[in-house]
Amino acid sequence: MSDCIFCKIASGDIPGDIVYQDDRVIAVNDIDPKAPVHILIMPKAHIPSLNEIDNSNKDIMAHILTVAANLAKTKGVAEKGYRIVNNCGVQGGQSVNHIHFHLLGGRSLTWPPG
Ligand code: AMP
Ligand code: ZN
Repeated sequence: MSDCIFCKIASGDIPGDIVYQDDRVIAVNDIDPKAPVHILIMPKAHIPSLNEIDNSNKDIMAHILTVAANLAKTKGVAEKGYRIVNNCGVQGGQSVNHIHFHLLGGRSLTWPPG
């Protein structure tokens, strides 16, 4: 999608602080980190939000969570614990309309979220 910032990072049109990528997924350090480890994991293909996940594209969700679990290990937060967050839609707090999952770790996280 031409005006999507995450599509532009995935295509290399604008730089991102890439920590992992393969043919389907890219992971970047969040530009405004909320924890010592704050990585965004997303499909390279443009999917606006979790609302657009169905049986036709559900496999990418398993792949993203597998990448997240591997990154948690390589970034050293797996043992103490971490959080995976998906903000969906306006009331969910989604600000970039290209589905992505936040991997947050490296400090104690409070609950419930705001
Ligand atoms: P959300 O509010 O769940 O849609 O999350 C969007 C996230 O993208 C926020 O945490 C932003 O800090 C982050 N973000 C926005 N632009 C960039 C960028 N160019 N590179 C990395 N992270 C970004
Ligand atoms: Zn996009």
